[in-house]
Amino acid sequence: MIKNRRKIHEGKAKVLYEGPKTGTIIQHFKDDATAFNGERHEIIDGKGVLNNRITEYIFLAMEEIGIATHFIKRLNMREQLIKKVEIIPLEVVVRNVIAGSLAKKLGMKEGTKLSRSIIEYYYKDDALNDPMVTDEHITAFDWATPSELEDMVATTLRVNDFLTGLFYGIGIQLVDFKLEFGRHVEDGNMRIILADEFSPDNCRLWDIKTGEKLDKDRFRQNLGGLVNAYQEVARRLGILNENGDVIDSDEKVKGDKPTLVK
Ligand code: UDP
Repeated sequence: MIKNRRKIHEGKAKVLYEGPKTGTIIQHFKDDATAFNGERHEIIDGKGVLNNRITEYIFLAMEEIGIATHFIKRLNMREQLIKKVEIIPLEVVVRNVIAGSLAKKLGMKEGTKLSRSIIEYYYKDDALNDPMVTDEHITAFDWATPSELEDMVATTLRVNDFLTGLFYGIGIQLVDFKLEFGRHVEDGNMRIILADEFSPDNCRLWDIKTGEKLDKDRFRQNLGGLVNAYQEVARRLGILNENGDVIDSDEKVKGDKPTLVK
């Protein structure tokens, strides 16, 4: 870890440091788990390492299919080098199955499959508890332009289709997830790219056979076994070595590929 570097921002689960070159940032994954807007807080040993590695895997897979992300490379067990972006203050949530706040708000049964995916937007503001907003608010308050919003929706749907299939192949149902986007300038052109992270901290993953929750609901609902669940996701993605450790360095594991579940 580089010493004496400048901290840019500390969030609930990650810290951002100034990167080695202009336009780069180091994203550090902490072991902190929070829920209910920070009301509950615990340190869960090993969570940061898993989220760093899972995010790397997913963002590299997105890049492979032509979805631009802020990810440059993983630096070590807890850190990755990312492109500096101007974060759009929105959480874009996609739902394939009814769960969480949707089930609660509308009194619906968790686990019901939706006939089509639903996209929701939340305005990122801890003091306001991230209120749900509509496209009208987003464009009226200039959080994003209509064309930026259109780009985000198109990318989100593509990510959803791609990841639904990817997780299905390893016996996991992708119930819902949250994405964040940022503005990035490259060669004088500004475009919207995927930012933040993709880990079991911000999605719901259910084992297809058993229905077991393999995501942060284990913490939210006091189910225990969070690290084991995240490890199981990493193992099925093919990114844990034989000892069950997350792979550090560029060591290639035997079959560095998702473990297909029959
Ligand atoms: N989510 C997130 N950050 C948030 C709120 C939600 O990553 O601040 C994710 C959450 O993990 C889930 C999806 O977005 O995969 C939908 O969450 P929901 O609205 O059901 O909220 P929650 O149950 O977390 O209150």
